[in-house]
Amino acid sequence: MTGRLAVVGLGPGDACYLTPEAQEALAGADTLYGYGPYLDRVPARAGQNRHPSDNREERARAAAALRHAAQGASVAVVSGGDPGVFAMAAAVCEEIEAGPEAWRTLDLAIVPGITAMLAVAARIGAPLGHDFCALSLSDNLKPWELVERRLDAAASAGFVIALYNPVSRARPWQLGTAIERLRRHLPQSTPVIFGRAVGRPDECVSVATLEAADAQIADMATLVIVGSRETRVVTRPGRPPLVYTPRAVAEVSA
Ligand code: SAH
Repeated sequence: MTGRLAVVGLGPGDACYLTPEAQEALAGADTLYGYGPYLDRVPARAGQNRHPSDNREERARAAAALRHAAQGASVAVVSGGDPGVFAMAAAVCEEIEAGPEAWRTLDLAIVPGITAMLAVAARIGAPLGHDFCALSLSDNLKPWELVERRLDAAASAGFVIALYNPVSRARPWQLGTAIERLRRHLPQSTPVIFGRAVGRPDECVSVATLEAADAQIADMATLVIVGSRETRVVTRPGRPPLVYTPRAVAEVSA
């Protein structure tokens, strides 16, 4: 008997963001693995085992889930947002590549979810309406110098930039340094969106200019979107502003 491993995206928070496919994958699993707070979002089901683990133990968690599935179990590993965006799907692929041959024949399904940048963008308008890129500011898995090189390249190439993992307790300075860096390339009026805990009860979304953007307001649950030269803010009486990036660019700016 061969087991099954589903790597399931839970979306940004509220259960309304869970896709029917993800619900089905979770309901069909005998055992769930994941970061504790993400597992807490999955409704309990009698007879289903749970293995919560720490946020930083992604490879060990992936290996444990694969071992379990290889024994014939139906296992689901959960991720917030989409499992393929700075999350468990890549950790599972890394383990399959490095692990025993039998893991390659497992029935593996990656079940997508709504990633944080899409949830934040939808709250404020359409900041990702033209070309954009996503970067993790965490330098746990890459040197900070590479982050800076990518920020320079992305801003000077005109991409809107979604910043995941802007800060953590162990990484307090990265976002401030990144904002400083981006000020070298972009107009001070460039819109910067801070989307915190989007899709959860404590959600908070705000917009600042690059000049006024304060890294201190971001925490681990915040996604930051830095606009391009084209990104616009439309004020609306009695309603929050709309931030959007037009679909067309007429000419190459200097
Ligand atoms: N796989 C996840 C991202 C994991 S990296 C996804 O697709 O969304 C963790 C980072 O995602 C956080 O530091 C934060 O930048 C962002 N994030 C996750 N959930 C969020 C939410 N509900 N609101 C805002 N940002 C969120």
